[in-house]
Amino acid sequence: MYNTKAYAAFSATDSLQPFQLDRRGLRENDILIDILFCGVCHSDIHTVKNDWHATKYPVVPGHEIIGKVIKKGEKVIHFNIGDIVGVGCMVDSCQNCSSCNDGLEQYCLNGFTGTYNGKDKISGGYTYGGYSDKIVVQENFVLKIPKNLDLAGAAPLLCAGITTWSPLKNWDIKAGDHVGIIGLGGLGHMAIKLAHAMGAKVTMITTSPQKGEDAKRLGADNVLLSTDKDAMKSASMSFDFLLNTIPVKHDANPYILLLKTDGTMVFVGAIEPIEPIHMGLLIGKRRHIGASLIGGIKETQEMLDFCGTHNITSDIELIPIQEINEAYERVLKNDVKYRFVIDMNSLKKESKE
Ligand code: NAP
Ligand code: ZN
Repeated sequence: MYNTKAYAAFSATDSLQPFQLDRRGLRENDILIDILFCGVCHSDIHTVKNDWHATKYPVVPGHEIIGKVIKKGEKVIHFNIGDIVGVGCMVDSCQNCSSCNDGLEQYCLNGFTGTYNGKDKISGGYTYGGYSDKIVVQENFVLKIPKNLDLAGAAPLLCAGITTWSPLKNWDIKAGDHVGIIGLGGLGHMAIKLAHAMGAKVTMITTSPQKGEDAKRLGADNVLLSTDKDAMKSASMSFDFLLNTIPVKHDANPYILLLKTDGTMVFVGAIEPIEPIHMGLLIGKRRHIGASLIGGIKETQEMLDFCGTHNITSDIELIPIQEINEAYERVLKNDVKYRFVIDMNSLKKESKE
């Protein structure tokens, strides 16, 4: 067992605070990772606040993990001591069902194990995530990080990156397609970069006029203010594809009107009931609605390699773990540019005090 320093929430209303836990001893196919950086996803906040009514406390969030291999089990073949690696939203699945065999572990028919707050099939209890100084993960759920990428900026690729990459690939976005990204936060800013690198014409659809310049710097060709009714009207029927990252209940009908005939809007943000969708808007133009959950291990590696080739990382604000509660407040106030990443040195130093 490895004594591990972490930050945890003990209830939906508490702030995160220091916590000690034990990581399991290494099995033959396990890797012990010294965590260097961990991104702060809006899902961490939803989980801490029990927005999805499934949180087991204490919860240690964090599923955008970058670290260094410091020990490995005897049967680990793809990784060596000293390798820089990543861990995303999953640490286990049945690895045997049709979804797992298709490289879609996130849709495992027997349920995947989340990196945190997941039922731990190996050690019992619930998994603890990346707001910690080390983690033990079986090699099949560990990713290789391209050497040229900035490590702190690469952390958000493990969730924000793959969650936006997977639908863009699955719906076959290609050069020249008109893609709209709804919501310029952690997911949205990665989506702009990835869709732009795929050659799409990208429009940022935002509620925040002050984010327009950033959107263009990130790779958007145009910016559409969703609160501007005239602009929304002028943009009607002009998009092939929309990726909706809005993290809360909302009215999606005004966005559906933006789609061309046969266009598709994919939801990744609001994991909850939203305002009713008017089916006439879909039927009248054979428009489609879809949804998507993170991405499989194979496609996560493909996304990371693509980011290596195109030198794509996240725009981050690096914080010490002691500032995590303020960071949560700022995400909720829509004040993040565009992902907080925790420098885990701050936790390691704390443990020596
Ligand atoms: P985030 O950084 O907080 O960004 C969300 C953005 O949505 C905001 O920056 C804002 O952009 C816009 N927004 C916020 N409230 C809004 C409202 N009431 N109406 C319209 N737009 C609003 O969050 P994130 O980390 O990108 O995560 C987004 C959502 O995806 C979360 O709910 C998270 O749990 C979920 N998620 C899903 C998956 C999956 O697998 N499907 C994976 C990871 C995360 P503007 O200022 O530009 O409007
Ligand atoms: Zn996430």
